[in-house]
Amino acid sequence: GGSNLSGDAYRRQHEITVTGDEVPLPFSSFEATGFPSELLSEVYSAGFSAPTPIQAQSWPIALQGRDIVAVAKTGSGKTLGYLIPGFMHLKRCCKDPRMGPTVLVLSPTRELATQIQDEAVKFGKSSRISCTCLYGGAPKGPQLRDIERGVDIVVATPGRLNDILEMRRISLHQVSYLVLDEADRMLDMGFEPQIRKIVKEVPTLRQTLMYTATWPKEVRKIAADLLVNPIQVNIGNID
Ligand code: ADP
Ligand code: MG
Repeated sequence: GGSNLSGDAYRRQHEITVTGDEVPLPFSSFEATGFPSELLSEVYSAGFSAPTPIQAQSWPIALQGRDIVAVAKTGSGKTLGYLIPGFMHLKRCCKDPRMGPTVLVLSPTRELATQIQDEAVKFGKSSRISCTCLYGGAPKGPQLRDIERGVDIVVATPGRLNDILEMRRISLHQVSYLVLDEADRMLDMGFEPQIRKIVKEVPTLRQTLMYTATWPKEVRKIAADLLVNPIQVNIGNID
């Protein structure tokens, strides 16, 4: 696809490149997002005054239901970049969480997965969104109970989610919003086989968002396999 030059000055200033078909205009402020007012209050009380560059670019893309690859370094606000459109996706779907999660976020480590869950709980509270975290090195019992009770969002490390899938204690057939966070790190840690097994359990009719700090050929390959006609957002210089 070709590149879209809209919002060009802003993009140049923040070293942003966006490529793909029919790239939407970025949001220049929180007001421009159209997010519900309860959610905006939450964002303001967190002390945030404007979307970060990755949020400004990726929110309109994600809200249109498009697949995204975002290449941006740590600390750029990627978590809310995919979580808030995930909340909006949940609002539209109205699925029964007891039949399985709708939003699935894969994350490389327990620590990162826990941070994502904290953010989801904090900003999803006003939208009554439920979330749980599945990671290794902790007993499975409480995690299985959360799944059984029903959650909208599951944040998981690939190893533990794969174990629980093999036990047939979770169904991913309702997942329609799939996020691969820190994809490069998950591949470095050797999680590619688990990721591929998990994705096989997720319907192909879904929205897929991939976040990575680097863009080596292994990540390009998995992006080409899992995403459909994505828009790619690069923030800063990438190799
Ligand atoms: P990344 O995943 O890109 O490393 P995070 O999503 O963890 O980054 O965000 C880094 C920090 O920035 C977090 O403390 C987060 O709460 C904060 N943050 C997110 N969005 C904004 C914003 N729009 N303005 C200011 N701070 C933000
Ligand atoms: Mg992150």
